[in-house]
Amino acid sequence: MAFDFKGKTVLVTGASRGIGRAIALEFARGGASVALNYAGNAAAANEALALVQQAGAAKAKLYQFDVADPAACAAAVESVAADLGGPHVLVNNAGIAIDQLVMRTKDEDWNRSLQVNLTGNFNLIRAVSRPMMKARGGAIVNVTSVVGEMGNAGQAAYAAAKAGQIGLTKAVARELASRNIRVNAVAPGYIDTDMTAGLPEAAKTKLTEMIPLSRLGTAADIASAVAFLASDQASYVTGEVLRVNGGMYM
Ligand code: NAP
Repeated sequence: MAFDFKGKTVLVTGASRGIGRAIALEFARGGASVALNYAGNAAAANEALALVQQAGAAKAKLYQFDVADPAACAAAVESVAADLGGPHVLVNNAGIAIDQLVMRTKDEDWNRSLQVNLTGNFNLIRAVSRPMMKARGGAIVNVTSVVGEMGNAGQAAYAAAKAGQIGLTKAVARELASRNIRVNAVAPGYIDTDMTAGLPEAAKTKLTEMIPLSRLGTAADIASAVAFLASDQASYVTGEVLRVNGGMYM
């Protein structure tokens, strides 16, 4: 079932591939205007744009910027407002995994992980809060991870950033609730995308054994949860972390 997003503009970061592309498609099916952000993969971004247009988006446009760059985020939100209106919904999905044992983690990798995965969310939340307040409402969904709640060896920088997103979600949910802006998070388990494509088959089999539903998730599994939280059907839900992980962590 597609939720109804007619008349709404949705900004999805990291929309060129994987989970973000599936999220952009879900909003397109609901009739939204979709602003698709990406970092640098223009071929993937153009493919995502074409699919979003075919899926029924009212309007759609690509925005290339680095979510870690605060000035670029502020400028992008202004461009989206001018081009498509809103934004009424922000989905902070862009993320990177720089995996390394903690003793081998370089300062630059630690800092980059936090800047993209956590500060990127803050940059865009700050930028959209003014137009959302002016519109007297809005919805923000941050895509965190199961490892932000349960940790994972070799992912200290990623897990720290993903846990940080949960605190950010709850603090901003409290701060913006009186303005009718809801802020939630979705915490995916292991999802079959480019990010996990490098996992050896043996590791995937081992992971699957830890998942009660006995499979890796799909990008579409996450997209429908994000769309629900952004929809009017979730109008009394804020500050929530919705786990979509096949039961891997309860
Ligand atoms: P993915 O397939 O690697 O795609 C990453 C997306 O983020 C791409 O669209 C990429 O753009 C964009 N991106 C990366 N760095 C960016 C930056 N600095 N600024 C703007 N865009 C940037 O990743 P995914 O698996 O779909 O993951 C999406 C989100 O889900 C991430 O936040 C991730 O942490 C989270 N998550 C994933 C899993 C999983 O198992 N896959 C599990 C839990 C949580 P380009 O195409 O231009 O590079």
